[in-house]
Amino acid sequence: MTPQPTLSSTETGSNTNSSQTICPVCSRDAHGKFVPLASLDEEVGALIAANAPAAAHLEAVCARCAGLFEQAKDQIQKDAAVQKDGSHVLSTPLRLDADPRFTGRGVTIAFLDSGFYPHVDLTTPNNRILAYRNLTDKDGGLESLFQPDVASWHGMMTSVVATGNGSLSNGFYRGIAPEAEVVLVKLARTGRITDENILEGLVWILENRKQYNIRIVNISAGGDEQRSYLDDPLSQMVEACSAAGILVVCAVGNSGHLPSHPVVPPASAPSCISVGGLDDNNSMNRSRRGMYRSSYGPTVDGLQKPEVIAPSIWVPAPILPNTPTAQQAALLDELDKAKDDELHSIIRSNPGVDADLDAALDRAVHSIRQLILLKIRRENVITKHYKYVDGTSFSAPIVSSVAAQILEANSSLTPSQVKRILIDTAERLPGYDIDRQGWGVIDPRRAVELAEALL
Ligand SMILES: [Zn+2]
Repeated sequence: MTPQPTLSSTETGSNTNSSQTICPVCSRDAHGKFVPLASLDEEVGALIAANAPAAAHLEAVCARCAGLFEQAKDQIQKDAAVQKDGSHVLSTPLRLDADPRFTGRGVTIAFLDSGFYPHVDLTTPNNRILAYRNLTDKDGGLESLFQPDVASWHGMMTSVVATGNGSLSNGFYRGIAPEAEVVLVKLARTGRITDENILEGLVWILENRKQYNIRIVNISAGGDEQRSYLDDPLSQMVEACSAAGILVVCAVGNSGHLPSHPVVPPASAPSCISVGGLDDNNSMNRSRRGMYRSSYGPTVDGLQKPEVIAPSIWVPAPILPNTPTAQQAALLDELDKAKDDELHSIIRSNPGVDADLDAALDRAVHSIRQLILLKIRRENVITKHYKYVDGTSFSAPIVSSVAAQILEANSSLTPSQVKRILIDTAERLPGYDIDRQGWGVIDPRRAVELAEALL
């Protein structure tokens, strides 16, 4: 069940004549269309080199990579956070090479989660939150949407990872469906969600699907008990939603390192598409891809789960505004950009935000700098508005966002057809067990192309 240490030469293209066919950046067949780096704008060349594998001697890249970086250059240089080694924190659409023609327009995704927040990436320039429902409150509990509560974090992140428009980064850290509309269903008072909560959420979705034209429901939560779908009410409800025309997207969970690594309801239900985790090392280079420690089947019913995998680590997600975390990230961001002689006064004027920084006031500049970098890394801060998150809770919304692109490209597709397209276009990760990854890494570009071909 562990990844093999070496990949076969046919899969990586490391045999002698492959240097002429395989692009060193994306590791895909260039079909003979190579662009010499020397012929590119110097800045584009530098950008490609910074995001290429460290050992690669780059002379040429495929036409696709050249075009991709050329287009992304201005935005990456202006808006992407730069890491210590000079590489950039890339966005999800860029890393998965999503087709920018499709943004989820006209498609509604419902999110079931512990709580939500009307983040500006969802509400500006127009509010795309079609409905909010708090199932813990008989009256619908709209006021709970605006409370920066601990339970609000998770759903805010899942909804924005899929459909955020990156408004706090000039659009850079956006999701793959930044124009999709959303319906947010709060299931619990705390972060703890039960199978009954999820079941209740799905019942609400089923009853309200027509009013909001809900085509996709994202569930980044699951119970702990393995149960056969034949007698499990939650799994039965997933089947009912699929039959009613709603694609159910489920995270498989993060227990791949445990001996049992079970896939439990709702992810174990046959008709849903369950999503495991890819670790792409925040890189566009496909040879750097590996597995995340996500759960995997077969399920108690003998089904292969997950069906596909998507990024589940190094995923940029928003920081919940008006929280101690937001204050801390803002301070670290300010210090990181400040001049040496400003550090002490900035820390002094922000007492109580970060105890480690307060305690470091008598230290020398270089030592404070070290502490700032350490804290940025430890707190996974990207900018004052975004941070890295991990877990299959974030792979599922990425797949939901691609499903929205697919339905935008071809709205007549049924949930099982959308699932089939995601599976048929996925790319197997070489060197990893099929049980862990299913049909492999989603390929958003090929998925929308196939959806269009079926029109
Ligand atoms: Zn390439």
